[in-house]
Amino acid sequence: MAGHLEILAPLSGIMVPLEQVPDPVFAQKMVGDGISIDPTSSEMLAPVSGKIVNLHRACHALTIESETGVEVLIHIGIDTVELKGEGFTPLVKEGDVVKLGQPLIRFSLDSVGRKARSLLTQILITNGDLVKSYAPASGLVTAGKSVALKLELAVQSAANKQESSSDGSDIALGNTIVLPNPNGLHARPAALLAGAAKKFDSDIRLVRGGESVNAKSVVSIIGLCTQKGDPVQIKASGKDSAAAVEALTKLIAEGCGENPNAEPEPAKKETAAPVRAVATSPDELAGVSASPGLAVGKIVQFRPQIIDVSEAGEGVDKERVKFEFALKEARNQLEALKTTLSADASKSHRSQILSAHQELLDDPELIYQALVLINQNKSAGFAWSQAYSQYAEQLDRLKSHLLRERANDMRDIGRRVLALLAGVKQASLDVPPDSILVAEELSPSDTAAMDPSKVMGFCTTTGGATSHVAILARSLGIPAICGIEETALNLPDGQLVVLDGTRGILHRNPSEPEVTQARAKMKQIAARRAEEKAAAFEPAITKDGHQIEVVANIRNAKEAREAVKMGAEGVGLLRSEFLFDNRDTPPSQVEQAAEYVAVAQALGKERTLVIRTLDVGGDKPLPYIPLPKEDNPFLGLRGIRVSLDRPEMLRVQLRAILEASDAADLHIMFPMVATIEEIRAAKAILAEETRASGKTAKVGIMIEVPSAAVMSEIFAKEVDFFSIGTNDLTQYTLAMDRGHPKLAKLADGLDPAVLRMIALTVEGAHKHGKWVGVCGGIASDMMAVPVLVGLGVDELSVSVPAIPSVKALVKRLSLQECHELAKEVMDMTSAVDVRNRLASFSE
Ligand code: PEP
Ligand code: MG
Repeated sequence: MAGHLEILAPLSGIMVPLEQVPDPVFAQKMVGDGISIDPTSSEMLAPVSGKIVNLHRACHALTIESETGVEVLIHIGIDTVELKGEGFTPLVKEGDVVKLGQPLIRFSLDSVGRKARSLLTQILITNGDLVKSYAPASGLVTAGKSVALKLELAVQSAANKQESSSDGSDIALGNTIVLPNPNGLHARPAALLAGAAKKFDSDIRLVRGGESVNAKSVVSIIGLCTQKGDPVQIKASGKDSAAAVEALTKLIAEGCGENPNAEPEPAKKETAAPVRAVATSPDELAGVSASPGLAVGKIVQFRPQIIDVSEAGEGVDKERVKFEFALKEARNQLEALKTTLSADASKSHRSQILSAHQELLDDPELIYQALVLINQNKSAGFAWSQAYSQYAEQLDRLKSHLLRERANDMRDIGRRVLALLAGVKQASLDVPPDSILVAEELSPSDTAAMDPSKVMGFCTTTGGATSHVAILARSLGIPAICGIEETALNLPDGQLVVLDGTRGILHRNPSEPEVTQARAKMKQIAARRAEEKAAAFEPAITKDGHQIEVVANIRNAKEAREAVKMGAEGVGLLRSEFLFDNRDTPPSQVEQAAEYVAVAQALGKERTLVIRTLDVGGDKPLPYIPLPKEDNPFLGLRGIRVSLDRPEMLRVQLRAILEASDAADLHIMFPMVATIEEIRAAKAILAEETRASGKTAKVGIMIEVPSAAVMSEIFAKEVDFFSIGTNDLTQYTLAMDRGHPKLAKLADGLDPAVLRMIALTVEGAHKHGKWVGVCGGIASDMMAVPVLVGLGVDELSVSVPAIPSVKALVKRLSLQECHELAKEVMDMTSAVDVRNRLASFSE
């Protein structure tokens, strides 16, 4: 039943319309509608009776759920979260039931006032679907006495909410998830989340502490500036709220399409912003390396067209129709652009970026902002241009430079729609062959549409290595420089230049010999890459006839399919722990078997599949396996020790793995084995499971600790194969934590001590006719490959992109020379000496 709710002023002061608050997050009502107050008192009182559902850890904001279900967020000041609680004293805690007028937070007007950007305090309704209309007060108000905001409640509120929420179908709040994404919810995961949220009718909010944003709006999600580790929740109100909360909570926990454990490549760049190159001569223009490679070509200056639109509209209805038509047309354009990209991996990246643009185009907050202006008799073009420019500026102001880069995406999609509204054709990137483009800014869709056979490289004066433009350039294999000196914009069209994307340098007056040299080098690299790829399906046989198996390290079935396409002869390491990550409970036998079988099917019977059992503990904790706090977790319950400690979990995994035995040449491998008792205990469990299932697999262990390497001759009698985990073997041999900020770079797998461990392992295994692989990082290191071959390793299990190059390198080697090389470097005194000796193999 509809009704009214009066919200009393929590503080004394002067009422200020929300639109005037100097923070777009509030002014644009991204958190909710309401009113602001410029306070003169310093004790915040409860504006309604209700329950404290959230108290921000910085104590500057809290949310009360009123008895009618309306949620009132009070946010003291602007950017006060940065004070981290300094100057605020909470007088209540989460879960407290408070009475109207009860003091909630006390704060120091003086110190907060001096340190914060503003003391303006926002009173916002975060579940606006319960509200039909808002009547904010104006002028002076007195805390606990004056009405600050009068709400007319929607029919679905109050009593209805009570009724429906009693069966849990109206308002639902998900569990708190610790955000797994290495860079928070930036453009692509935000687009995925918003896209999934839009499939539900309910009003859906993404909540972090006292802040909450529309989960259907990419811009709002990005604007929340989340970071890895932030506790977030999904809150939904509406008929399908429970289903929405369940699905979206799961999606966030799973990383919103990102592999939470993927190398946080952009994050590294986030913490250490990409380094600018330094010009070494007046003819060099320096920028940031955005995409590696060398290019010789002629300058083509590219300038986007300025699109003029009139401010006044031709009537609200007409402008709305125009607007909707332009949005639809822009969606079609993006769809068409996507279908022109075929399904190879580099293009799927471009397609993902275009999908993120489609999400921006469907952003409800953005569309709403434009519609507000259209309703005020502005033209659709003007309204849209204001709305998207404001968002782009807002993104530009964000602290994270990764998120700031998304402003370019916003302007890109904005211009696409604007051009349609203004009836102008956007300047196209139809350039002559051998072009090096120079622009202030290139839009991601310009870049996605580039023809790599004509565009040899490009430079922009804006942007950085994490921009979509840079990502696209890398996926297209086009050398590029971002953030180049502005003088680049004055280079005349047609001037011959050499662009060194790897260094981030544009050479504007190359001499004849310099051009010749650059061209020769380009030819050499291109020819080598092409050759390697073309030959990736051939076996890796040394010049003197010795074959090395080159297989892949993978995490799931998708990577197995990629590996096969890159010429992998099998999988030497399936890190099964990735199936166990980012969830609250272990995966069931059925879930696990589905993935293992899919991997096996991708490989087929003729290829080896080595599945490693769960390898957690130490640097790889799992929330649902509470391991005891240990003084030395790397020397504690890790790898096989955890599985033997929880035999039931190991049995479930073994049963699931064995289900893959019909589809591939199945090998099961136990990690972190140190003693013979561990091998025997694990094998005994496996034997029971193979007997029970009637299925079989070969069994091996990882050699990751010195005891296993030293005892290899004895251990080899117990197993079918060894795989050397040089990452751990190095850390345990040198007693240097592989993640230690200072030591990790010294823990080199090419240290002679580690090489001697490898030699011992191979010797022990070969005595008993067992094969040895290397699946640690050095197997993908070109300098290490000749030494590993020389040490007698039978199989190299490498990262998927490295497969063609490793195979090609093996083919250039001779086993005899590798033996001699291995002997020579084993006698050296340090990893530095070894690397100096091997420098010629680095490419
Ligand atoms: C290793 O230690 O070398 C290895 C391959 O295992 P992980 O890196 O998964 O610990
Ligand atoms: Mg390991």
